[in-house]
Amino acid sequence: MAAYYKFSGKFAPQGPLLGILAGAGVSIPATFLYVYGTVSIPEAKLRAICTLAFGALIGACSGFAMCWGKVRNKFVAATVGLAASLFGLYFSWFAWIMHLVQPSHWVFNLARSVMHPRKLWSAMLVVNGIGTWSSGSGGTPEHGTFLWIVWIGEALLLAATGTLAAFAIVQLRPFCERCEQWCSQKTKLFFAPSLPADQFKTNLESQDIASLAKLAAGDPKHPHYRVDLYTCANCHSLNTVSLIQSFGKNHKTILNKLMIAPDQAAAIRDLALARSPRPI
Ligand SMILES: [Zn+2]
Repeated sequence: MAAYYKFSGKFAPQGPLLGILAGAGVSIPATFLYVYGTVSIPEAKLRAICTLAFGALIGACSGFAMCWGKVRNKFVAATVGLAASLFGLYFSWFAWIMHLVQPSHWVFNLARSVMHPRKLWSAMLVVNGIGTWSSGSGGTPEHGTFLWIVWIGEALLLAATGTLAAFAIVQLRPFCERCEQWCSQKTKLFFAPSLPADQFKTNLESQDIASLAKLAAGDPKHPHYRVDLYTCANCHSLNTVSLIQSFGKNHKTILNKLMIAPDQAAAIRDLALARSPRPI
């Protein structure tokens, strides 16, 4: 029966701490860019992209720090990503309110006023009653319930992006518990979409690695399947393959971290070597 790799759930105590410090740490300088972006960009869709980028940056930094801190627990990875994103949200609110109150000196005032959540809440209530921007041309600024919905939407978007980014980065590679290290050796193979995804999956699950050699090579610039092999660079005994289908916009993971034997992993590496362009 096909066996899939699962995280052990272990983590060193410093792992989540590093994740929080990295995510919250990068959110401080990034906040200034974020507030600058949200204030100076009039287009609502572009402002939403700023929120996505801000959340992705926080989550990614948090995720990479947790990889460094050897976190192999999905719940911890997601929780730390969420916590770092919420810190970023909190800090960006202070920066934005300070920008509204004192546009010319807000950068300097931020350090002093940042520790007063109650003042921030009072300021938010005042700003919500008045509004600062209008979606129509020359109309009254958006305020009240509609503005609360926009703010909640922004908070959810930021928190979800940060959480997902941290989670995605931590679960990208398997971790060899025997050697206490991430599987850093990666082999990529591209195949033409010459068979249904289910059949490709069944072939891999039945450990039929020999069938891969018979499939036509794919072009990464056109619709293709991709097989990712991760191997522990130290012991070579932990090997996982993932199958990703990329048919234009239809991009999905068909199979995630199926465990295969070392000799089958070696066969995949040999095939990758045989298909790689050789220097003349
Ligand atoms: Zn190992």
